[in-house]
Amino acid sequence: MRYVIIGAGVAGLEAAKTIRRHDNAAEILMVSADTHVHSRCMLHKFIAGERDEQGLDFSEKDFFAKYKIDWKKGFQVKQVCPDKKEIQLENGEKITYDKLLLANGADSFIPPVGELRKASNVYGLRNLSDAQAIVKEAEAAEDVLVIGSGLVGLDAAYGLLERGKKITIVEMADRILPVQLDAHGADAYQKLFENAGVRFVLGRKASEAACEADGKIHKVTLDNGEELTCDLLIVAAGVRPALACLEDSGIACERGVTVDASMKTSAADVYAAGDITGLSGIWPNAANQGRIAGENMCGADEKYTDTYAIKNTINFFGLVTLCVGKIQPEEGDQIQIKEDKTQYKRVILKDGKVEGVLLQGDISHAGTWQYLIKNKIDVSGIQKNIFDINFADFYQVKENGEYQWVC
Ligand SMILES: Cc1cc2nc3c(=O)[nH]c(=O)nc-3n(C[C@H](O)[C@H](O)[C@H](O)COP(=O)(O)OP(=O)(O)OC[C@H]3O[C@@H](n4cnc5c(N)ncnc54)[C@H](O)[C@@H]3O)c2cc1C
Repeated sequence: MRYVIIGAGVAGLEAAKTIRRHDNAAEILMVSADTHVHSRCMLHKFIAGERDEQGLDFSEKDFFAKYKIDWKKGFQVKQVCPDKKEIQLENGEKITYDKLLLANGADSFIPPVGELRKASNVYGLRNLSDAQAIVKEAEAAEDVLVIGSGLVGLDAAYGLLERGKKITIVEMADRILPVQLDAHGADAYQKLFENAGVRFVLGRKASEAACEADGKIHKVTLDNGEELTCDLLIVAAGVRPALACLEDSGIACERGVTVDASMKTSAADVYAAGDITGLSGIWPNAANQGRIAGENMCGADEKYTDTYAIKNTINFFGLVTLCVGKIQPEEGDQIQIKEDKTQYKRVILKDGKVEGVLLQGDISHAGTWQYLIKNKIDVSGIQKNIFDINFADFYQVKENGEYQWVC
């Protein structure tokens, strides 16, 4: 049996390890454009000069030898052909498979604004190769412009601050981290970045950017006419699942590769896991999907049910924030807040059930909140402050033959 895995990110590695646990004799081949296993969450540390390539490796020591996995690193897959059960590489090589996992992750999205896609000093931040190129370009750059103030944009800024660069961040929303946090939680980070010297331009879009004679962009014009100078541009305007090699494959895709709860795609013996599915875009979920895909590729029947678990951990300048579940409240939701000098906590409730929690400054008891959200436990009957709930406050009872959680 030959298992082929495209991608050496966390989803691919988790799947490979899982397959090996089930099948000691199988051939497992991983193919990736990446030449190093690396944590994308740590790329800012590489940019800052705090870690080298090896320091980003999140895999077990001697991973490939230990699990008897062949790894073709630095190879781009050009086309997946489910009808022939083969993949074709950019160099023309063809590799056949019995079972295939798509764990290609996602690509940075550079919006089609002016000549952003053409300029030689514009980078996304997705791969180690991006971080290496940013560090090189930064050697001669003073003025850095970051477009987008989500986690990736702030990661890039954080890393470059360590290199003493002057940084401006443009964000089209009226606050930073608009997807990850509420206004209060985001404001705390904005102040920390500003204290470190970063300038934010909020509520504005880049509308024009032309290359100069050296092939670089040195000035970006915003939608209010303001001009921002730069020597290095980092565009952190989101990602798109890496679907290029699936064109003409017949595999069903929407935002990402379409999968069922077993992580099976529409093609026989082809599975997908991680950011390529477009299901979540965060590390723990990619790892979990990889593991589940690996199990099912070996004949198990495990389902991915983690869809509640939008979990984000943010940590800049020592201020840590954890969000679980719903982040932006909807009409009819109830909000409860606890705040003092050291912490900010916000809970979103709907029909007596916790749907989301944001913990900033103090993330203790995160497991309790996760449990309440995952199991949809009704907390409306609780006789104490919601922020004091602990595991002892809820338990399971059997009603009409089914277990229900009560608080
Ligand atoms: C800067 C940054 C910071 C982040 N911070 C956090 C964080 O703090 N917390 C968090 O939970 N998540 C964070 N994330 C998201 C997290 O890193 C991803 O969710 C996770 O890496 C997804 O894993 P994956 O295995 O699906 O894909 P990836 O890690 O993207 O791996 C994809 C693999 O596929 C390979 N590949 C792609 N296309 C091809 C092809 N055609 N041929 C061959 N190989 C191919 C790539 O080379 C790579 O090896 C961050 C991401 C970035 C970019």
